Amino acid sequence: MTENNTYPFVNLPLPYAYNALEPYIDEQTMRLHHDKHLQTYIDNLNAAIEKEPRIKLLPLKQLIAYADKLPQPSQNIIRNNAGGVFNHRFYFEQLKNPSDDKPTGVLMQEIIREYGTFDKFKAELKAAALSVFGSGYAWLVADGNKLKIITTPNQNVPFDYCLLLNIDVWEHAYYLKHHNLRADYIDDLFNVIDWNKVEQRYLDCLASLKA
Ligand code: MN
Repeated sequence: MTENNTYPFVNLPLPYAYNALEPYIDEQTMRLHHDKHLQTYIDNLNAAIEKEPRIKLLPLKQLIAYADKLPQPSQNIIRNNAGGVFNHRFYFEQLKNPSDDKPTGVLMQEIIREYGTFDKFKAELKAAALSVFGSGYAWLVADGNKLKIITTPNQNVPFDYCLLLNIDVWEHAYYLKHHNLRADYIDDLFNVIDWNKVEQRYLDCLASLKA
């Protein structure tokens, strides 16, 4: 996970160029998504923490867990903005330049076991992403060692599971290039997923089961 995990949060650079995902995800979308949208979540989170000094030392995941104990409006502001920071870092970190790579190793074994083929898995993940009403995410998660596809609204983070992959279906993730065609964005996104990163997350999940 990204460094800079406590207040004051700063927006670390993308681990690749803004145009690295072309032609599937365009440079302008990446600039706006990272430099404006993620930056706004970071600025709003820092401002909200300023008003709740007792949570200043908490790392991101604990901030989200602790948000429920805070009075309003801090509760909603921290949940939405800490979630926004977590979800976007997670999303950007799992992308890379275009390739036709597929998962390998134990992750691919589990995909085949659960979904039959890689194409069937992609179809199911796409259907989940299309099913999100309004803004939110589709996720590939691990429940123990078992793979699951779920969705979450807004900037919620499904920390009940071990997180492997998220698909941001907020319109700001695709509207400049794909307009209202969320399905085309999802098809394009499959060309820029770093499956090595996703598999490493799954291996970390499995290792944490044994710990
Ligand atoms: Mn987004």
